[in-house]
Amino acid sequence: MSRRLPEGAPAASSGRAPPPREGEGGGARRVVVLGSTGSVGRQALAVIGRFPDRFRVVGLAAGRGGETLAQQVRAFRPGRVAVAGEKSAGELRRALGRGCPDIAIGTEGACQVAAMEGADFVLSAISGGSGMRPTAAAIARGRTVGLANKESMVLAGELLGALARSSGARILPVDSEHSAIFQCLSGQRREDVRRLVLTASGGPFWAKPPGAFARASPAEALRHPNWSMGEKITIDSATLMNKALEVIEARWLFDLPPEKIAVLVHPQSVVHSLVEFRDGALLAQLGVSDMRGPIAYALGWPERVPLDLAPLDLAAVGRLTFAPPDETRFPAVALGRRALDKGGTAPAAMSGADEAAVAAFLAGRIGLPAVAGIVARVLDEHVPRAVDSIETAWAASEWGRVRAEALLDEIG
Ligand code: MG
Repeated sequence: MSRRLPEGAPAASSGRAPPPREGEGGGARRVVVLGSTGSVGRQALAVIGRFPDRFRVVGLAAGRGGETLAQQVRAFRPGRVAVAGEKSAGELRRALGRGCPDIAIGTEGACQVAAMEGADFVLSAISGGSGMRPTAAAIARGRTVGLANKESMVLAGELLGALARSSGARILPVDSEHSAIFQCLSGQRREDVRRLVLTASGGPFWAKPPGAFARASPAEALRHPNWSMGEKITIDSATLMNKALEVIEARWLFDLPPEKIAVLVHPQSVVHSLVEFRDGALLAQLGVSDMRGPIAYALGWPERVPLDLAPLDLAAVGRLTFAPPDETRFPAVALGRRALDKGGTAPAAMSGADEAAVAAFLAGRIGLPAVAGIVARVLDEHVPRAVDSIETAWAASEWGRVRAEALLDEIG
């Protein structure tokens, strides 16, 4: 019997019906935003704020919090909030006075908010590997999870997929490429899929001479040509490590072997990704490069939210170009494939090493080309073991980070 992807849902999803919607007796969708003060979190709240009859914020988690979080709490009045530490909690209490909601602390606090009572949808938008535990908590609770934190899948994709199947959780991609693929797979049979094609902008240095990449300052590398995103992912875009992480994310999200996941450089970021079918047909999803698109798609799924983004004017774009990735200057995608090939905890170790190397670049300690060099050395040293628990995945990521920091100290 053919296996149809349930309404285009990724393999990690169950066939369970979405939570009740307005007019179906359930009122507005009750949303938790993890990483609410980050780039995706702020854009998500911008979307939610425009559709108060569709969405209601019931929980927020943010690292430092500060005035941005205080404003979000005033605007959306969530029942629970999580912040990284007591200092941030104290600031929030002072800022909000008697209107302050219940505050949970640390990763454990973020996990509590992720799994809180009365939520339908959890947007996982904490940056980096530290987003994994709260994401796992939401999945274990059977929530619909909008996944912007790709590291969750990189660290423990197979495990989280299995957890979703047993809890009945649904994982909806928010990463623009994976959202595009998810949309292209809608109503298709998985045995008809020949391969997925992830597009990559190439980052700010793609069309520049190799020297520009080698000498890039953090400020230059943070100037992404098409997308407005957080710092970590923007640097990952400049090295193409972001695409390596996305290949791994796609591998588990759509349950396809790595050789069926291709990467294509497309500097205009208009085609967000494609699916090639066995009859040779290619389906692509196109749109403006604005994260509010994939965020709203996940939030509203299976409905589309009437966003008022400027429409994509293809006549004005004029030309769409495509090129194979330059694996000499940008070895990161090959590193991602090597990590998948090594298997087990290798992608987690790679992700941890990348976080340390990106931090070192942003601190001015190393140049951009050294990021992949550090990651490659850590990956070569890593002896993978099976990802049998979230703790194992986290420990491997931390091992990768610590090992990369030791190598960075050797460099000076
Ligand atoms: Mg992406």
